[in-house]
Amino acid sequence: MKKFAALTLSALIFGSGFLGAGGSGFAEGDSLKKFESLGKGDVKVVQGKGQKGPPTFVSGILSENFSKGNAKSAKAFLSEHEELFHVKNAEESLTEVRVTEDELGMTHVRLQQTKKGIPVDRNELNVHFNEDNSITAVNGNFDPELEELEINTTPAVNRNTALETAKKDVSAPEYVDFQTSELIIYPFEADYHLAYRINLEFHSATPGNWYVYVDAHTGEVIDRFDAMTGLGNFSDILDLEEITEQPQATAAQVKAKNEKAQEKRNELRGARGKGLGTTGVQKLMDISHGLDEDGGRTFYLADHSTSDMDGIFTYNMQNTSNQMWLYENDSASWKDVEYSGDSSSWEVVGQGPAVDAHSNSRIVYDYFLENHGRNSLDDQGMAIESRVHYWREYNNAFWSNGLAMMTYGDGDGQQFIPLAALDVTAHEMVHGITHYNGGLRYRFETGAINEAYSDTFGSIIDDRSWDVGEDIMGEAWLADGRTALRSSEDPGKFPVNQAYWAYSVDGEGRYPAHMEEYYFLPGNMDNGGVHINCTILQHSAYLVSEEYGMGREVVADTWYRAYDYLHFDATFAEFREAILQSATDLYGEDSEEYDAFLGAFDDIGLYEGWSLEENHRSPLW
Ligand SMILES: [Zn+2]
Repeated sequence: MKKFAALTLSALIFGSGFLGAGGSGFAEGDSLKKFESLGKGDVKVVQGKGQKGPPTFVSGILSENFSKGNAKSAKAFLSEHEELFHVKNAEESLTEVRVTEDELGMTHVRLQQTKKGIPVDRNELNVHFNEDNSITAVNGNFDPELEELEINTTPAVNRNTALETAKKDVSAPEYVDFQTSELIIYPFEADYHLAYRINLEFHSATPGNWYVYVDAHTGEVIDRFDAMTGLGNFSDILDLEEITEQPQATAAQVKAKNEKAQEKRNELRGARGKGLGTTGVQKLMDISHGLDEDGGRTFYLADHSTSDMDGIFTYNMQNTSNQMWLYENDSASWKDVEYSGDSSSWEVVGQGPAVDAHSNSRIVYDYFLENHGRNSLDDQGMAIESRVHYWREYNNAFWSNGLAMMTYGDGDGQQFIPLAALDVTAHEMVHGITHYNGGLRYRFETGAINEAYSDTFGSIIDDRSWDVGEDIMGEAWLADGRTALRSSEDPGKFPVNQAYWAYSVDGEGRYPAHMEEYYFLPGNMDNGGVHINCTILQHSAYLVSEEYGMGREVVADTWYRAYDYLHFDATFAEFREAILQSATDLYGEDSEEYDAFLGAFDDIGLYEGWSLEENHRSPLW
């Protein structure tokens, strides 16, 4: 690991500190005194320089016991400590998003900032209660200026017009698989817009999951980004000329498929099957079989073997980018796209990706159930569905929020071979878990945290190495010495895509392992570096596990728990505190585990209160 001089340390911890006898001298009113008077130990306040709104993270015992850990108690607490958290009118400005109770009996309340009932994009506040219903931490975003501002919340542009504008803006195909539109307040470039936040997901040859922000007064597009959570950003490598649009199914056709699918699935019986994965490894699988109309027997990659979840299904895209051929057939159902064969043995060349996706989905499902008590991606037993042979020579894999499925390309053989290897499967499925845990916006710092979760769990579940993608590398990349896609152990051993080299600290374009190497990319380049800056965080996971000797399980338990402390727009600084708080909950602040996480954050230069605005080298977009 590289060592960097911590030159900026003293500046970064400005505004943060432990409550001491002299107080900290910030505009925190009487709150710190009140916390102290509880007599229940230190309180930690982490605050970025010049930050308006609530501190980045406040932790310690912050209140007496409430009768219940819920949104009402959270709002009462925030109101009582207005000078510290800067929430003036909690009742009007905050709306409950979710309340979760964890295995330690703690309750995590997530509140959304609203203005006249309209959600403010980006601003969520978390309030955490221990098992006695005392508040132990508060973190998140809240914009106090908005409470005072007069904003016209009556749109002048109607929703359909905004939708059409958004579709044109991202060149959406005629049929869009999923679309939603919400009226929101969008803080953007020092201004507040009443806007439609429009989500468009489509699976044409160039899949997209766009968020487009259309000003509801002027009708203009303010901002956009593609939140398709893929394995990497390789668009500059794909041969775009080859891509042509295919006919799209209608919404009615898509909707009609599900009931039929369920009907036919129920006629199938379970069986054990075996197959050969892409790299020639034999896998055992749970599959199904059923009688055909002509009396023959067909086997399907449909696993109904677990009673309290909806099954594991693997579909054959037959090198298309959508299932038009399925929708056009009146008697068709999802059974027809389930990968099928005439025996329980799947060893024919070309079946490898299906065998991998199917068997790896089961491994990842079992991992989360056994280690984190999580029943499938949504923890509600949802079906795990994967699509293989997507498009032609497609060099990527992705999770889709709209479809709620994983998709794997076959690769072009040069860059990648079929992409359904175990660490990649885990990577994509963890994008699903992140989504159902409240999401991490797929952009800038937050998007890099999202990616780091996927890569880290990829290396926890596929524990042969701390590299991601060692089983999917194609001929040309292997010949070039590229043995994996990314490395958590030694990020800098691989170069990033050449398009980003100019943004690297030394011009050499290596994956970063330290905050001094952070890539300050604009939003239209890899969504601000989500697949690049992630390696800094996942390197800290490697360090905790291997250099500090805590092992993968400690990393997994701590990171998994930290989801409760994150929110849709969490920053690296919050990620640091979320992990440390999670380690405190699990092992205590005096534990070697806590020290390992703390040490690893120092090693990667992620100090308390780090902020993008303060540290950037290049102009910020
Ligand atoms: Zn990803």
